[in-house]
Amino acid sequence: MTNINSVCVYCGSSSKGRGSHHDAARRLGALLAKRDVRLIFGGGRVGLMGILADAVLAAGGEVTGVIPDFLEEREVGHSSCTELVITDSMHSRKQRMAELSDGFVILPGGLGTLDETFEIVTWRQLGLHDKPIVVVDIDGYWRPLEALIDNMIAENYVRAEHRSLFHMVGSIEEVLPTLEALQPEATHIDSELI
Ligand code: AMP
Repeated sequence: MTNINSVCVYCGSSSKGRGSHHDAARRLGALLAKRDVRLIFGGGRVGLMGILADAVLAAGGEVTGVIPDFLEEREVGHSSCTELVITDSMHSRKQRMAELSDGFVILPGGLGTLDETFEIVTWRQLGLHDKPIVVVDIDGYWRPLEALIDNMIAENYVRAEHRSLFHMVGSIEEVLPTLEALQPEATHIDSELI
């Protein structure tokens, strides 16, 4: 029995990354659709975000895009989404994406992806939610992140047990089994505290 009905994916808005990253976004999209898991994402048509959403839709899956009004033009709001939620700020976008999702997946991306990743990891560190977070390390892309966190632990700025706030996997095929294995009994985000 799985409680993973919707998954939020954070990933890059650039399309200039490696072909293997594009393939990973396509494979994840197809797998989500096949397993009837709704994609929650940043609502743009650009970069890995667009490739991922197109792959879900092409395979008959459902997609909710969440985009702030001021970014709709820059990131080209994905008009084919099953549902497009327009928010009035970046903060309400991230909060809405988190509320709608049963788990979080991080593909390669840039500073926006890092911002979203650290926000959801630190909300978990603070006990604001207990939803699983899976980082997908395609071709070693996120290895420097792992090294940074190991260094933060070694220098006593991060508690060693907080290393398990997120899980790193090496392939798209491991994503859904890992989310399912890690799902908490009940999940919620306490919006009052955010
Ligand atoms: P990037 O990884 O920089 O290509 O951005 C991926 C997504 O993260 C885009 O939809 C950005 O709008 C979004 N994003 C979220 N928070 C931020 C932030 N603080 N700064 C920039 N982009 C952000």
